[in-house]
Amino acid sequence: MAETRKTKLLIIGSGPAGYTAGVYASRAMLDPILVQGIEPGGQLTTTTEVENWPGDTEVQGPDLMVRMQDHARAMGTEIIGDIITDLDLSSRPFHAKGDSGTTYVADAVVLATGARAKWLGLDSEEKFKGFGVSACATCDGFFYRGQEIVVIGGGNTAVEEALFLTNFASKVTLVHRRDELRAEKILIDRLQKNPKIEPLWFHEMVEVYGTDAPLGVEGIKVKHTKTGEITDIPAKGVFVAIGHAPANELVKDTLETHMGGYVVTKPDSTETSVPGVFAAGDLTDHKYRQAVTSAGMGCMAALEAERFLAEHCEDGDEISATPQLEGTD
Ligand code: FAD
Ligand code: NAP
Repeated sequence: MAETRKTKLLIIGSGPAGYTAGVYASRAMLDPILVQGIEPGGQLTTTTEVENWPGDTEVQGPDLMVRMQDHARAMGTEIIGDIITDLDLSSRPFHAKGDSGTTYVADAVVLATGARAKWLGLDSEEKFKGFGVSACATCDGFFYRGQEIVVIGGGNTAVEEALFLTNFASKVTLVHRRDELRAEKILIDRLQKNPKIEPLWFHEMVEVYGTDAPLGVEGIKVKHTKTGEITDIPAKGVFVAIGHAPANELVKDTLETHMGGYVVTKPDSTETSVPGVFAAGDLTDHKYRQAVTSAGMGCMAALEAERFLAEHCEDGDEISATPQLEGTD
């Protein structure tokens, strides 16, 4: 029989924002339930070294996220391996449906669903996804030992992926649509010093080509952004690293969003347009999108949820008032 779980605070997402919210909410005695989603630990589980998490000169992303999970659990967060498929914010208490069949009933919700990799949207990219086209170098780089690889993009992710892939590849071509990278200086410096990486400026990927049986990549076609000239680059692996979009599927029709789907929060706050619903991390942050800023927002969300619950809910009482949509300016 389908289970119903009641909680004062439901945290959706298990990245730095979600786990930090769990730590703070547990210490506020809110007994939070945290639902992990399809990617327990979030985006940092798809990378290797993290060098900007305060207190760790260098830590492996997946290890850091296991530590955060253990910390939240030790403080009292109940961590559940489920995916929220539907979220009803039209009346309080809020109702969330899990893929497992469980219904979560919550007086307040922290949304920390983060962001997901963007794709170029080419038919050929779709055709070869999982067969030579990837968005995760740490997951798939190992398959390309001794092969030529291309990475598309010019941000931190693209440069980090290019550097990481030199552990396996004979050559990495970094294809970028401009001649300037938006990655951090320290990463650009490492890229410039790496003899296996060749940047290709002012080019965009227009096609992935390869074999049908077995399905596999043989190369890409790139177009010069100024001249329009098309060139072939032979490659067995294509890593698309053109940024991330907010994972807003649960709330895009119910909460106010902006800047390409990021959930709007009030200034200096994680409050959304529905009272009792707080948003933290990459889901709401179009500007910084860092682990430490996400964790900071997770802290804010838990503290704001605690205050909201204290104001709206006597100990043990459920909140039954219908939420009112408020302006966000
Ligand atoms: P995320 O980490 O995106 O986690 C989102 C969580 O929500 C996941 O657990 C997911 O399972 C869950 N979720 C989504 N939908 C649902 C649902 N329907 N139901 C339940 N759960 C759901 N930042 C740094 O500061 N330093 C770095 O070195 C660094 N390296 C990076 C390397 C790579 C390759 C990438 C991609 C990013 C990197 N970042 C780095 C950025 C950093 O990972 C993000 O800023 C941070 O992870 C965002 O945290 P978050 O908690 O908002 O969400
Ligand atoms: P990003 O910073 O948004 O960079 C995306 C890159 O892809 C840009 O260079 C962009 O080009 C390019 N691009 C976007 N759309 C494209 C298209 N349609 N065709 C071709 N190129 C396209 O994304 P990100 O690198 O994934 O980083 C996301 C966030 O995570 C950032 O805040 C980043 O700092 C953080 N992060 C941090 C670390 C770290 O701290 N070490 C590591 C990874 C990620 P333009 O430059 O021309 O716009």
